[in-house]
Amino acid sequence: MAEKAYTVKLGDVSRLLGKIAKEKYDVIVPTTQDGDVLYLPFKDGMGVVMDHGNPLTPPKEFFLPQTDELVKYKKEGKGFKAEVAKSSLDCKRVLFGIRPCDVHALMCIDLPFKDTYDDSYYLQKRANTLILAMTCNEPGDNCFCASMGCGPDLDDNYDLLFTNIGDMLYVKVGTDEGKNLIDTAPEFFDEADKKDAKARSAKIKEVENKFKRKLDTKKLGRLKDKFDDPTWQEMADRCIKCGGCNYICPSCYCFNVVDRTYGDDGVRERSWDGCMLEGFTRMAGGANPRQANVERMKQRYYHKLQYFNDRYGRHLCVGCGRCTDVCPVEINMVDYVNKIIGGA
Ligand code: SF4
Ligand code: SF4
Repeated sequence: MAEKAYTVKLGDVSRLLGKIAKEKYDVIVPTTQDGDVLYLPFKDGMGVVMDHGNPLTPPKEFFLPQTDELVKYKKEGKGFKAEVAKSSLDCKRVLFGIRPCDVHALMCIDLPFKDTYDDSYYLQKRANTLILAMTCNEPGDNCFCASMGCGPDLDDNYDLLFTNIGDMLYVKVGTDEGKNLIDTAPEFFDEADKKDAKARSAKIKEVENKFKRKLDTKKLGRLKDKFDDPTWQEMADRCIKCGGCNYICPSCYCFNVVDRTYGDDGVRERSWDGCMLEGFTRMAGGANPRQANVERMKQRYYHKLQYFNDRYGRHLCVGCGRCTDVCPVEINMVDYVNKIIGGA
């Protein structure tokens, strides 16, 4: 959508979000809690962090909660009555400050969640959430979104896109809903001029040159011949099987479904699961096709960098670097994959 661009003063952002919140939107923002930058529901007076790298945790949990009720059921007469749990978002919500890599991660999750079946729990939250994305000014030490084509800029899939160009944010409009949001608070926005657009382009260029890590994606096709590479065992031996890399990943979407019963009543809920955990592929009767950690390690990497691409035409890794950030034994995705494929 070719649209006018705008600017908003950095000092006005909290008041702007406060006004949006009063317009009956739930607003989620990056803010500091106990020294970490996290996405949390906006409250008046809350500090909105705009000069940080990517928040510690991705905003995936707002679309695919760690635990989500699916169905409630209770005994009625000789049978059971089931009702779909009302856990889906039924009001409009604004997610401010989401980074391009995390927008790409949501685009990844969209694919399986509207493939054979529509996952209404997830898709309703996606449909009701406006994406107010923010390009990164400072890639983290382990970021490689530029290698994956997922940053530092964003071409589409946003309602508004902000870039910090000094004492103001440059605002690109992606959808009519984004423009409507601007129209609800026009006093905060000025029309951008050519100088602002130039400052934005210069900022994006500057950030593109700041990445310390590069995954050699041109050589990823070699993975299909590297299934028996000894490096997988090296990684598996080092791994302590904590599952942190799964849980922190913005594009990991696997879940487990359990029924919890309370007397005659019950709840069916789903919770995040992770392919690095031993029980992930354990079946009824105890058989486990991925008993050894090296098999689970390969599954994770091949799903991220080959299988998902074979099925959906894009990688399931967006290069956010969080799995490397949180790994307690410093298993560095870029270093190991480059070693396996003979990359840069
Ligand atoms: S695999 Fe690692 S770098 Fe890739 S998206 Fe997941 S957490 Fe980020
Ligand atoms: S975070 Fe590191 S140690 Fe934990 S499961 Fe992942 S690779 Fe293994």
